[in-house]
Amino acid sequence: MNVPTVVIGAQWGDEGKGKLVDSIGSNFDIVGRFNGGNNAGHTVIYKGEECKLHVLPSGIFQKKKLIISQGAVFDPEVLLSELEFCNKHNIFPDLMIDYRVNLVMPYHKLMDAANELWKGSYATGSVKVGIGYCYEDRNNRSGIRCEDLLYPEILKEKLENIFPLKRAILEKVYRVKVDLTIDKIYERFLHHAKVLTPYINDVSSFVSNNLHKKTMLFEGAMATMLDGQFGTYPYTVANNTIASSIFSSLGIPNCPINVIGVVKAYTTRVGGGPFPTEQNNKSGKTLQIVGHEIAATSGRIRRCGWLDLPILRFANKLNKFSSLAITKLDVLSKFSKIPVCIGYRLGKKTIYEYPAISHEFYRCKPIYQTFTGWNEDISRVRRKEDLPKNCLIYLRAIEKMVGIPIRYISVGPDRKSLIYAKN
Ligand code: GDP
Ligand code: MG
Repeated sequence: MNVPTVVIGAQWGDEGKGKLVDSIGSNFDIVGRFNGGNNAGHTVIYKGEECKLHVLPSGIFQKKKLIISQGAVFDPEVLLSELEFCNKHNIFPDLMIDYRVNLVMPYHKLMDAANELWKGSYATGSVKVGIGYCYEDRNNRSGIRCEDLLYPEILKEKLENIFPLKRAILEKVYRVKVDLTIDKIYERFLHHAKVLTPYINDVSSFVSNNLHKKTMLFEGAMATMLDGQFGTYPYTVANNTIASSIFSSLGIPNCPINVIGVVKAYTTRVGGGPFPTEQNNKSGKTLQIVGHEIAATSGRIRRCGWLDLPILRFANKLNKFSSLAITKLDVLSKFSKIPVCIGYRLGKKTIYEYPAISHEFYRCKPIYQTFTGWNEDISRVRRKEDLPKNCLIYLRAIEKMVGIPIRYISVGPDRKSLIYAKN
């Protein structure tokens, strides 16, 4: 029986999920997206060219059947530009998008930007592409869904009902100038409908019918610590990012899944929010430069710090990882000493778990165990046993302290820089 595989970021995103999905995608019949929006950015190196995917699943360059299920949302403008990129490279995706997927509307982007300004110092560091507002409308049943692209008269009716309220909020509450009109939005969406109609279908039934017949790989967008409820709230996304959300996204009853937790060998995060192991110093700068830590969606510099094991244990508790994939291990070759956070001081207490009260995390001070580095280039290593001894000690310590075996070790950005570790 085939068990679906789900790739989940164990930290705050940008762990290298796209690269892993591209590397192992050839082993699967179907590659899918099940959550998040085009605020996610997954980098895949295709024929030496860096390609940043925001909507299309990273299996695109393995020419797999691609699916986008209803837990995801997207801006059609962004998908159209990705499809254009593919066509230019002679790739014509075999793509299926669920009828129920909600679309990011132009007014969602305006509301996102206006609300960040309104919040001032409470701004969450949104990339302002409207995803949170798209989910908000989905939840209050004011969303425009892919199914509406197939029925232009219903699309028009919905816009006539929804848009005047959006305009009033933008103009009267946020005092934003709105150039949009119903006609302009409608015209643009008729164009989107023309391009997207062939892809829109019943993904949920397709998955149900093929669940154990075909091999499926699902790529989680964002990451565990950005989960709308369990992450570092409110510096999170508007949806669930944890593995179990796949069942409601696909519309299937829960069944065994194989969950790969993707862990960067250190930690990064983009935008605001607590980050106890952050290094605002020379080490952080080295991680940022050597790891090219620049956000794929916003172009912002990623904040960098050491690996945080309580976070990984919490991620494992939420997702129940079957195995781990460690990425960007090559970046640590620059360091002679590698600290790892094993617990926190919280006031007078020592804790080894991520606290359930989100504001307590701001006061957590990391307790480090320091490992000796290996100081040699590992980017060409392809067998685990050829890694330097100190590197193996680092990996073994992570396995032991998280309690999950490492199955994949990534030592470079391209598809081939991956070590499959059998034990
Ligand atoms: P995702 O959002 O988890 O898919 O990750 P991103 O693509 O946003 O960010 C990961 C970045 O690290 C990308 O620029 C990748 O090309 C790069 N990358 C992935 N794996 C490795 C690795 O093992 N070593 C190095 N040096 N870079 C990597
Ligand atoms: Mg990313």
